[in-house]
Amino acid sequence: MKKNIAVLPGDGIGPEIIAEAVKVLDKIADKYGHEFEYNYVDIGGCSIDKYGVPITNEGMEICKSSDSVLLGAVGGPKWDNCPPEIRAEKALLAVRKELNLFANLRPTKLFKYLASSSPLKEEVIGGGIDLLIVRELTGGVYFGAKKTENIDGQLVATDIMPYSESEIERIGRVAFETAMKRNKKLTSVDKANVLETSRLWRKTMHRLSNEYPEVEYSDALVDSTAMQLIKNPSQFDVIVTENMFGDILSDEASMLTGSIGMMPSASLSSGTRGMYEPIHGSAPDIAGLNIANPLGTILSAAMMLRYSFDMAEEAEAIERAVDKVLDEGYRTGDIMQENCKKVTCSEMGTLVANKL
Ligand code: NAD
Repeated sequence: MKKNIAVLPGDGIGPEIIAEAVKVLDKIADKYGHEFEYNYVDIGGCSIDKYGVPITNEGMEICKSSDSVLLGAVGGPKWDNCPPEIRAEKALLAVRKELNLFANLRPTKLFKYLASSSPLKEEVIGGGIDLLIVRELTGGVYFGAKKTENIDGQLVATDIMPYSESEIERIGRVAFETAMKRNKKLTSVDKANVLETSRLWRKTMHRLSNEYPEVEYSDALVDSTAMQLIKNPSQFDVIVTENMFGDILSDEASMLTGSIGMMPSASLSSGTRGMYEPIHGSAPDIAGLNIANPLGTILSAAMMLRYSFDMAEEAEAIERAVDKVLDEGYRTGDIMQENCKKVTCSEMGTLVANKL
């Protein structure tokens, strides 16, 4: 299969971790007879430095005409004081909007060899952690009308949280389909006891659940879910929720594993094109030192193969290779443990590629 990938290394450790993901993709292409063409695009601070904008129109066109987008990370202190309209993060929002990426998928998996990195006690994570949060990404309170006005001599701020039935149905379908590909268990998270948008959310999810009788469906309130993620994370398979709840819960869930450098993510549209990136930022404190953990980016590339290119076997091969490398005791500095072998970012990429 021939695929055209827009590669956006970005800032900080972005270029280092992306190089390792490309190394692994090249090995996959070789082994399975695919052809991956990479089109590199500057994004974030490096683009501001070169062109005065966080992504150029040409760069955006390359993303829009690609089969998928692979991103490192953007931003850093050097660009923190740029005017709001050209901030590095603006480019990410622009790509999400242009590609209509409305579904954010964030798996949280505790690799058994890294159990001691989790802030949770061993008896709590006994059943392992392997859950996936599907977050609605383009609606809700972050995108609703907002204002601050003076009423009776004091400032009053309002943020509106709109959701249409079709927006809920669209993300609901992604969640049910994702659950069908995993352990067929879906928890829909809302605040239906107080929010009107949540009541519509719940009603729409219930209607959809009739179409997926194989999926074990349940509702949960967001406050209770925040507690359950800490108390008994093994109970979850797929969680679906609206934008703001998903923002908060997915960050909470990612901390359960204690290793931010390991976590991949995918942002999907209704077609097959998506944007894939590790959940961490550009880590300016370790940029250029070849010590970053590239596994989150490598696992993001695996998600790209699974969700955008329908290459489940190849995706599993990468995930197994990562597992084997960890099993053999290789660690980058951020996940280093006693009696393990410390490797650099590029050595880690090579180790994974060689296991394929
Ligand atoms: P960060 O995720 O970049 O770093 C937090 C800590 O985790 C740092 O100590 C860093 O060294 C470490 N870390 C992160 N990724 C690592 C990896 N792969 N290997 C080893 N250690 C790793 O978060 P931050 O410091 O809050 O943000 C730095 C910059 O990144 C900011 O400009 C922020 O706006 C930006 N950011 C970008 C994205 C994105 O591109 N999607 C996301 C979050 C933050």
